[in-house]
Amino acid sequence: MLKGKIAIVTGGTRGIGRGIVRKYLQNGAKVVLFGSRQETVERAVEILKEENELWEVEGMYPNLTDAMEVENAILAVKEKFGRIDILVNNAGISQGTPLYDYTIEEFDKVIDLNVKALFYAILPTAKIMKAQGGGCIINTSSMVSLSGQPSGVAYPTSKFAVNGMTISLARELGKDNIRVNAVAPGVTQTEMLEAYPKQVIDAITAKIPLGRAGEVDEVANAFVYLASDLANYVTGEILSVDGATRA
Ligand code: NAD
Repeated sequence: MLKGKIAIVTGGTRGIGRGIVRKYLQNGAKVVLFGSRQETVERAVEILKEENELWEVEGMYPNLTDAMEVENAILAVKEKFGRIDILVNNAGISQGTPLYDYTIEEFDKVIDLNVKALFYAILPTAKIMKAQGGGCIINTSSMVSLSGQPSGVAYPTSKFAVNGMTISLARELGKDNIRVNAVAPGVTQTEMLEAYPKQVIDAITAKIPLGRAGEVDEVANAFVYLASDLANYVTGEILSVDGATRA
């Protein structure tokens, strides 16, 4: 479904991001995954190459909260592959801190990575996509972008912002044939869940109409669909993959 397409996936070393990278490779894309540390990036690439030596995957580790580093990494991808068809802004951090325990630094850390870093990646990429005649941007949002959550206010705040950026840029960039969508996962089996006490996760899981947390591959499938030609007329969409948790 993505044969020959060039994709960048941030936060691609583990969790949902690595699931997206694997699905994109299985569907014929060439992928550059961005991670935060050299050793985790190299390990993730190694694991994927062990699965299939024909997969064209490589890794980079720009500091996503440094606009210049991100721009340079994106320009390097364009230089090497000639184009960028898909940008997935997936890297994100979560937290469950009660309001009265917050520090300003903790709040800023979430906003810097979950919101500002998306803008840093989108700006140079959209210029490249416009010049090449189009492209597709997919942001990872969350079910809490629709419902909020009862502690850790920085996280839902950041994901509401992701939705705002997604819908607004879809409207602005449609004329350049750039589609902008988001996937809003519900509770998904990754290491991110470790930021929350078990009883919080159990309470949420008990209320999921489908009766269980989502699997990484089930979320990654939505990223394949949105990046594929099947979604050519889909833009400005926040696609929930949450077993109807939000309902
Ligand atoms: P995870 O913690 O397993 O993975 C997060 C990824 O982000 C990792 O690859 C990590 O390297 C990267 N990352 C973290 N900090 C970084 C930094 N400073 N610079 C660069 N990269 C950094 O989490 P996950 O569950 O796979 O989450 C991926 C996305 O899905 C996030 O945006 C998250 O908000 C969203 N999400 C997750 C769930 C869930 O239940 N797991 C639910 C809704 C939304």
